[in-house]
Formats: sequence, structure tokens, C-alpha cells
Amino acid sequence: MRDDVAIIGAGPAGARAGFVLASRGARVTMFDWSHPREKPCGGGVTGRALALVADSIDAASWPASIIRSARFTDTPRGRSVVVALKDHDNGADRPVDSARGTALVVADRSTFDAQLLAAAERAGARLDRSRVTDVIIDARGVSLDTTGGRRTASFVIGADGANSLVRRRVAAPFRRDQLSIATGFFAHGVTSDQIAIELTADPPGYIWSFPRPTHLAIGICAQADAGVTAATLRQQAARWIAATRIADGARLEPYSWPIPSLSAADLDAPPLAGPRWALTGDAAGLVDPITREGIYFALASGDWIGDALNRDDVRLYDTRARDEAIPELARAARLKAGFFRPAFTGLLMRALHESAAIRAVMADLIAGCQSYRSLKWRLARTFEWKLAFKAVRSLRF
Ligand SMILES: Cc1cc2nc3c(=O)[nH]c(=O)nc-3n(C[C@H](O)[C@H](O)[C@H](O)COP(=O)(O)OP(=O)(O)OC[C@H]3O[C@@H](n4cnc5c(N)ncnc54)[C@H](O)[C@@H]3O)c2cc1C
Repeated sequence: MRDDVAIIGAGPAGARAGFVLASRGARVTMFDWSHPREKPCGGGVTGRALALVADSIDAASWPASIIRSARFTDTPRGRSVVVALKDHDNGADRPVDSARGTALVVADRSTFDAQLLAAAERAGARLDRSRVTDVIIDARGVSLDTTGGRRTASFVIGADGANSLVRRRVAAPFRRDQLSIATGFFAHGVTSDQIAIELTADPPGYIWSFPRPTHLAIGICAQADAGVTAATLRQQAARWIAATRIADGARLEPYSWPIPSLSAADLDAPPLAGPRWALTGDAAGLVDPITREGIYFALASGDWIGDALNRDDVRLYDTRARDEAIPELARAARLKAGFFRPAFTGLLMRALHESAAIRAVMADLIAGCQSYRSLKWRLARTFEWKLAFKAVRSLRF
């Protein structure tokens, strides 16, 4: 029987779309051969992402590290600052004490994605464990070639990640300048309740350590056209691990994976949906170019396309993504160059060290609850006039 909707990929975007559509009675099949699987990722899930899926998974019922603080380091200069994270839902200045309302948890993607997938299946979405090898879309509908045979549907959702096949069929693959290479190690046998962030000038960005329940996810990334290879980046991460001794005694397992990192113009350009197709999550390029937070945007876009199709108006999806996600992501893309410039990162370390108000702004940026839109004004209201003025100037707001 022909499906109403075929969803290619059952990561956060696909599983969330499957849940929302099946909950309203649509006949939905999610295609993904890979589960159970670990996706190369930090695994940082912000409070806003947990809140979005609170109707389908119980944040307290699966293993995750509750993060209480973030340590910013500048190892070559021996500087470090700890920023306490706050409760997400009320912004109160108190430490997190449960998985609910927390600013940030870090989880294995095998665990988190399995929860989302199980919720979609409970709602009635079917999982077909085959790989889609081709997608043909015409006026009559959608035809899929899969490793399990040919399937048909009325509509196809591309939730198939950064290397999206659906994206290649309806638009074009990401160019190198639209991707970051992310690479690093899972450090098995070590964990913590603190994330670590080392700001780096070369490549412009940061090294991160995100503690999951049984290991650290340590990584670094650079724009794919920056002329630096994954091997070089991974060596840089290995040198940082050795210098900080953050993973002493751990077994290191390497990984690499692309992250869409679009410019403001790329984010603004093409529609995210047509009459019989839509792109979501990484396949749509919906990732914060500064923090690389993609899980929230994958879940949100899965939610929005599900809602739009339930209302029988796919255009609502494009409109909502352009109202609720793209302006913020485009702002981040414009700020990105300034954010990782040594002039700014040096100032940032100093500001974090000296000012509790600026530490609070940073805590909210990490938790995904500080918009780039109001960042300038919030910095200006910290009463750290000199620091805020210099920061705003060096970011060229
Ligand atoms: C190293 C790294 C660290 C990151 N850290 C964070 C972080 O800490 N927090 C955060 O919010 N974001 C982070 N991100 C980004 C985040 O991982 C992604 O934005 C997120 O996974 C996107 O979800 P998605 O559902 O769009 O795609 P994915 O999670 O990539 O899921 C796509 C699914 O599609 C399936 N698929 C692909 N092709 C086919 C096919 N042809 N047929 C069938 N199935 C197919 C795959 O098997 C996969 O299961 C990180 C990314 C990287 C690479």
C-alpha cells in the first residue's frame, strides 16, 4: 500500500517528523538501515531540545550526563574560567538538579536516537530497515529504490543528514564551503559533569569535550574548504588531550563526520520544501554555525514539517522555518568570523574571568536560550561597559 509520507533517515529530524505525523493518523514509513548506531556527535542536547520532545520521551528515563558547568580554557596561556550552567526553564540562578529543566545534558546518540525512534514507532510510524538508493519525484508521487525493493509514497521528507540523497535529487549536494569537517575521539572510561571548551585561533573555532555517561566525546572542527585535513585536525585534538590530561587512561576511538555550516546567504536562498518533498535537519543545513547545535533544529524542523503536512499545507513548513530558525542561524553565520578572531576570544576569556553577568550570558548561549538577536543588547546591559563595548565592536554587530 502507498504511504502518505516516506521519511528518509530516522535520526532526530526523521523520528520527530514520524512521531508528529503518525500521532495524527498519517500512514508513515521511516527508512533507515543503521539503527542501533552511534552517530559521530558531541551528544549535547539543550534544554530547549528536551522541552520540544517532552511529549514523546521522558528526559529522566534514559542515561545522560547532566552538565553543571562549562570550563573555558586557553591552554597555551594557562588560563581557565568555569561558567556555572543554570536551570533552563526559569533562568533562575541556581544549579541544575534534575534532568528536567536542565540547561544541557550529554547523551550517547545511540541512546537518544533510540528513544526518539521508539516514540515514533509507538505513535504508529513504521521503520523499514533498508537503505534508500534513489528517489524519483514527479507529479504523480514519489518512488523510492531501496535495498529492500521499490516503495511509493505521496510525499518524501529528506531527514538523511549532511550527505543527504534527497537533497541531491531536489537541489544540489552541499559544496565544500558549506560544510565543516568535525573530527576527534570518543575517550572511553572517563566522564565528568563539566564540558570543556578550548577556544582556538587556528583553525578559528574550538576544541570541545562533552562528557557522556561512560566516555568523553572530544572533537574539533574547521570549515571543509579551509585547507586543513581531518588527520591534521585530529592530531591537534590529540595534542590537546595530552596537554590537558583530560582523558588520562582512556581508550581513544577516532571519528570524523561533516556538519553543514552555511553562510547567511546560503541559509536565505532556496525553499526547504516543494509540493511533494521537504528537507529537514542537517539535510536542510539547519545547524548553528557557531555552536554547531544541530539536534534542536533537527527536532524542530521534524516537528514543523509534521505539523504542516497534518494541516495539508506544506508551505507552512517553509514559512515557519524562515520565521523561527533561519534568521537566528543567519545572524550566527554573520557573527561567526568575528567570534573566533583572537581579538575577540582574548577579550571573551577576560570578560568571563571578570564578570558574573557575562558568565551568565555565556551560560545561556550554551543552553541555547540566548538569541543572537538580543545578544548585543544583553551584553550592553551587563554594566560591564568597557568589556561589552569592545566585544560588540570586535564582533562588528
Ligand atoms: C562531531 C559532531 C559533533 C556534534 N555535536 C553536536 C552537539 O553536541 N549538539 C548538537 O545539537 N548537535 C551536534 N552536532 C550536530 C548533530 O549531530 C546533527 O545536527 C544532527 O544529528 C542532525 O540530525 P538529523 O536527524 O538531521 O540527521 P542525522 O542525525 O545525521 O540522521 C540521519 C539519518 O539518516 C540515515 N540515512 C542517511 N542516508 C540514508 C539513506 N540513503 N537511506 C536510509 N537512511 C539514511 C542515517 O543512517 C541517519 O540515521 C554535531 C555533529 C558532529 C558531526
